Amino acid sequence: KLVLGIETSCDDTAAAVVDEAGNVLGEAIHSQTEVHLKTGGIIPPVAQQLHRENIQRIVQESLSAGRISPRELSAVATTVKPGLALSLGVGLSFSLQLVNQLKKPFIPIHHMEAHALTIRLTNKVEFPFLVLLISGGHCLLALARGVSDFLLLGKSLDIAPGDMLDKVARRLSLIRHPECSAMSGGKAIEHLAKQGNRFHFDISPPMQHAKNCDFSFSGLQHVIDKIITQKEKEEGIEKGQILSSAADIAAAVQHTTACHVAKRTHRAILFCKQRDLLCQSNAVLVVSGGVASNLYIRRALEIVADATQCTLLCPPPKLCTDNGIMIAWNGIERLRAGLGILHDVEGIRYEPKCPLGVDISKEVGEAA
Ligand code: ATP
Ligand code: FE
Repeated sequence: KLVLGIETSCDDTAAAVVDEAGNVLGEAIHSQTEVHLKTGGIIPPVAQQLHRENIQRIVQESLSAGRISPRELSAVATTVKPGLALSLGVGLSFSLQLVNQLKKPFIPIHHMEAHALTIRLTNKVEFPFLVLLISGGHCLLALARGVSDFLLLGKSLDIAPGDMLDKVARRLSLIRHPECSAMSGGKAIEHLAKQGNRFHFDISPPMQHAKNCDFSFSGLQHVIDKIITQKEKEEGIEKGQILSSAADIAAAVQHTTACHVAKRTHRAILFCKQRDLLCQSNAVLVVSGGVASNLYIRRALEIVADATQCTLLCPPPKLCTDNGIMIAWNGIERLRAGLGILHDVEGIRYEPKCPLGVDISKEVGEAA
């Protein structure tokens, strides 16, 4: 069995062909990051236009990289939810045209489900397992019980941690810092934090009194923003110059983020074990998303995993961020399970908003 996966939910046009054994036969990706960096964020019509310009070529490249003729495909799997409407639309209409032409089944994919299942491509991981997704666009804790069976334990009530770190990095003008100019916001913060003292600023972690697994990062962003404004006054520098206390601020925001994420994850593990939803003695905790590449945050999660007899697993960095391989693999998983394979695509729509699985986050809070 061979599945072509197509991803256009945000700002990456990606495609890949994966077989039943999890071999990646071909892949291609076009990232729009450079364009969006210049505008200080994603402008949806611009993203849409770039997807349109690149999708044909990217799909073609993923097929030819594996010397695969479209006729050999068992199905086409494409992200249809959640994501930017204009971006999702490009991938969906391209895919529908393709499956109609080839007379192949179509497998609509939930982007978060694909992120969550990626670990089963790289490691032998059985259900159930706990997943923490932390990136620029996502922040959630979910229990994966089956290919299409998830319990949502918690999510961010405002922005995602990567988004917050990017905003702090921008506010600190780290793009002008000689050591961090080529790095993403989160990576620049991690780099600079190594030179700082995390205790220099005393910041309390968000939502300390909320006994659930939800997250919040916009409050923290505002606290940091105030500190930066204060320091700019003290040091008598203009906006855009780099503070002498930038490293301490980076260390503080990274530490606070790590504490917050670790606390919520700890609570989720305890909840699942209490309800016998996870194995008591050797449960698996999967951490994915761009922010998962932060070694300080990962260390905090390792401590939580050790304390709760869990094994911490992360997909390789390339598979932690958006890619076509995870979509194709999700297609393979669904083919094997016989779930959501469409032979008739009449009436299929994309859905910009769509939570992953059954939301039990309220129950988690009440149980504590
Ligand atoms: P998605 O749609 O999956 O959320 P995204 O582009 O928003 O995609 P990713 O590509 O998964 O997110 O990751 C990018 C985010 O990860 C950025 O916000 C970036 O700052 C953050 N990031 C990258 N490296 C690190 C790091 N070392 N530490 C912390 N954050 C990081
Ligand atoms: Fe994603």
